[in-house]
Amino acid sequence: MAKQKSLKGLGARYGIKIRKQYAKIHYQLKEKRTCPECGSQQFTRDAVGIWSCKKCEYKVAGTAYDVKL
Ligand SMILES: [Zn+2]
Repeated sequence: MAKQKSLKGLGARYGIKIRKQYAKIHYQLKEKRTCPECGSQQFTRDAVGIWSCKKCEYKVAGTAYDVKL
């Protein structure tokens, strides 16, 4: 247990650079987003590149890990 705490999901594999990127994207993905249509916070990624609102079912194409509106 000498090494730094590893990030969930990747363990000690792939090297620090990849893990840092993964962590960044992971948090980005979980971030609360606001639906541009109804303003609800239930705007999440449906599938890779597809973002949708759970409340009003508004759907938009974005990038794999983030949505630019
Ligand atoms: Zn909405």
